Amino acid sequence: MNRVLLLGGTGDALAIARGLCAPHVYSLAGLGRVPADLACAVRVGGFGGIGGLVRYLHDEKIALVVDATHPYAAQMSRHAHAACADARVPLWAVRRPAWQPQAGDDWRDASDWRGIVERIESYQRPLFTLGREPLAHLDEIPASQHWTIRCLDAHPGNERASIIDARGPFDLAGERALFDRARVDVVISKNSGGRATEAKLAVARERGLAVVMLTRPALPDADRTFGDAAGTLDALSHWLHTSEK
Ligand code: NAP
Repeated sequence: MNRVLLLGGTGDALAIARGLCAPHVYSLAGLGRVPADLACAVRVGGFGGIGGLVRYLHDEKIALVVDATHPYAAQMSRHAHAACADARVPLWAVRRPAWQPQAGDDWRDASDWRGIVERIESYQRPLFTLGREPLAHLDEIPASQHWTIRCLDAHPGNERASIIDARGPFDLAGERALFDRARVDVVISKNSGGRATEAKLAVARERGLAVVMLTRPALPDADRTFGDAAGTLDALSHWLHTSEK
């Protein structure tokens, strides 16, 4: 059977993994939860760079790689692209469409951490929803600010920062309550796309709050690109069916 290697770490990837059986492999970096109820094989941890992934593709006789990593996990996507080219294995990618600003949105782009800090200078109660990066800057919080940081980390925070260790999806009611409780006056976000974490944008819109949006990284091309899990699964099932003949 032609083996598929699915690179995951997102809800889309998990949905695809649920449609795969052994001997296909679902691969996770190991930062989050590892599902124990999948019919396909699960492996956890990095491959050891491009060379390690090339060896893995060869040793495990992988016939197709599907990159369903997060849009900001650019290193893994670049490694997958380079390794597949080297090993002559086709690469498919799930590229979740970015959120688009709607009427009433006040989005400001930032390309890096410095840009984020500059754009939130005049605010007092920022809500960070872009992962762990703010945790490395807790000692730099200006006296005029209190940060609320939502990320997958049980960090204790400090007198100027509250950490919320929570995993999406997040709904409107919960986000409104969080904005009230934390007295949020600006939101900092990745443009992740998808439904699971978009409620914060609706709450910012209804309250007229600015959203500082971290620019998406450039991602490499793939042989085929899909916008969601359902389309990817359809194509996979067709590919598996025809490639076995
Ligand atoms: P990254 O910077 O692109 O990757 C860092 C390294 O982690 C890669 O070089 C690779 O190590 C390993 N890695 C990443 N994804 C892997 C996978 N699916 N299977 C095996 N190894 C993997 O990624 P990141 O931004 O740290 O994100 C790590 C994981 O969390 C990704 O799988 C991503 O889908 C998920 N995630 C990321 C974000 C985000 O905002 N970045 C949000 C939600 C989920 P080697 O070089 O050793 O192979």
